[in-house]
Amino acid sequence: MIRKGEDYIKSISEHHGTIYYDGKVVEDVVSHPAFRIPIRTVADYYDLHWKEESLRVYNGDVGEETSISFMRPKNREELRRLRDGLVKIYDFYHGFFGRSPDYLNLWSTVFAAHADDYFGKAFGQDYSERVRNIYKEAAHNDLFYTHAIVAPMYDRSTPPSKWKDGYVQVGVVKEEKDGVIVRGACLLSTAGPYAEYLWYLPNIRRDTDPKYAIFFSIPTWSKGVKFLTRRGFYPRENYGPFEYPISSRFEESDAILMFDDVFVPWDRIIFYGKTDEIEGFMWNKVRLRTWFNWHFTIQHYTRIKFYAGLAIAMSEAVGINNFINVQEKIGEILIYLAMNEAALLGAEEAGEQLETIYRPNTQLAIAASHFNMRVLPRIHELLRLIPGGSSIPVPAGLNDFENPEERKYIEKYLDSKGLNPLERVKLFNILWDVIGSESGLRYEQYDRFSRGDPTIRWAQIYTEVYKDKKHELVKIVRDIMDQMPDPRE
Ligand SMILES: Cc1cc2nc3c(=O)[nH]c(=O)nc-3n(C[C@H](O)[C@H](O)[C@H](O)COP(=O)(O)OP(=O)(O)OC[C@H]3O[C@@H](n4cnc5c(N)ncnc54)[C@H](O)[C@@H]3O)c2cc1C
Repeated sequence: MIRKGEDYIKSISEHHGTIYYDGKVVEDVVSHPAFRIPIRTVADYYDLHWKEESLRVYNGDVGEETSISFMRPKNREELRRLRDGLVKIYDFYHGFFGRSPDYLNLWSTVFAAHADDYFGKAFGQDYSERVRNIYKEAAHNDLFYTHAIVAPMYDRSTPPSKWKDGYVQVGVVKEEKDGVIVRGACLLSTAGPYAEYLWYLPNIRRDTDPKYAIFFSIPTWSKGVKFLTRRGFYPRENYGPFEYPISSRFEESDAILMFDDVFVPWDRIIFYGKTDEIEGFMWNKVRLRTWFNWHFTIQHYTRIKFYAGLAIAMSEAVGINNFINVQEKIGEILIYLAMNEAALLGAEEAGEQLETIYRPNTQLAIAASHFNMRVLPRIHELLRLIPGGSSIPVPAGLNDFENPEERKYIEKYLDSKGLNPLERVKLFNILWDVIGSESGLRYEQYDRFSRGDPTIRWAQIYTEVYKDKKHELVKIVRDIMDQMPDPRE
């Protein structure tokens, strides 16, 4: 089934987790200023499926039409089709709103594709069924999932099992006949307050205590699921889409997710107790890392297109595009754009045909996404450098245009060679919402850290991603060494 925006809004207004915001429990999440923007944007995502036919596909795994984001690509052509669909979705978001429903739809689909060769083999037949059922339930009902992985920061230099409270990281408190009780919290769940279901998957490489080794899916409105939400970065009072064109559409909410002794039924648990199986999940059989980094690269590619357009529009408007230093900066952004496009095409072309799914090429997908941890903040820097100080003195709001006395001055002094004053102010409002607003800065933090710390992730390109290929690289050098003359004995 494919929902409409209004179905989602009805669902989230009827059921959501306990949401704490600014000292109160949120009752009406749909009209709350901190959540109404992303809720509207999620509703737009569902409606987009009814405007773009290519986003709706007959899904043989579910036996009905679903969002393309639930489509299991069985060959290269289907992976290309899936990428096309995701690019359409992210073009709609201009590359923002990374925790849109399709992100975790992809995860659920990948899990289902490995129901037998990973979950069944590692944990037993029951688990294969669970993974398939959870996927079918999500696809049939077109559910919106959030996810959470990382434990809160108590002391990153020691594992959570050594902390004063062993249940800061989410762990199993007790097993019961029908399920388990879990307690603990996660550093961050974007979209949690307005998502309908959640995936919890811990980073158990950081702590191999088996009580932490549990992955599950439950409704966000399960008893004991609570969200402690950050301040909203929505436009300030009396301002809206004119002054904050990005925040007013793509502000995403982030929260600490807490499990206050939550009951998780066995049939919602897809990984349990066996800490050694994590490598198969993240790096080997399921290779979740390949898939989510591939998805991130799609987000980045569409965002860089938008950033390139912004840089070009800005410099052409005020005639700075003829300066070599500005051209070089625009060129740099376009190089990043081309490299991302190449990585996506390459990841498809050099993907892996597995029995149940066609997977993007691991090295290309992960390297591109990790490269972008530094590229996207660099583009923000370039977008600050290109206009110089002119990004700052922009009239406060739309009201300035409605005051005839001020308008006279705006028409004269904010005119430019390429854009009329109104267009110019609109453009610079977009720019400031990217490089200067709270929402813009939050995106910069997201781009750098949402997949972990860039230093660690870049190091992993060597220690993990190229682990199986590095001997080929060394061999190139060894071959030359072997051809070089040795000293006479
Ligand atoms: C805007 C935003 C949205 C996000 N949304 C989500 C979400 O929806 N769901 C979700 O699960 N997560 C989300 N993430 C969280 C993300 O998973 C974590 O931020 C990320 O995994 C990094 O973990 P951390 O913040 O604990 O930092 P850490 O990895 O602990 O790093 C913190 C600092 O300590 C250093 N450090 C840590 N460990 C080591 C080490 N072993 N050696 C050397 N230095 C080390 C790092 O270099 C870094 O400077 C989001 C993050 C952001 C910024």
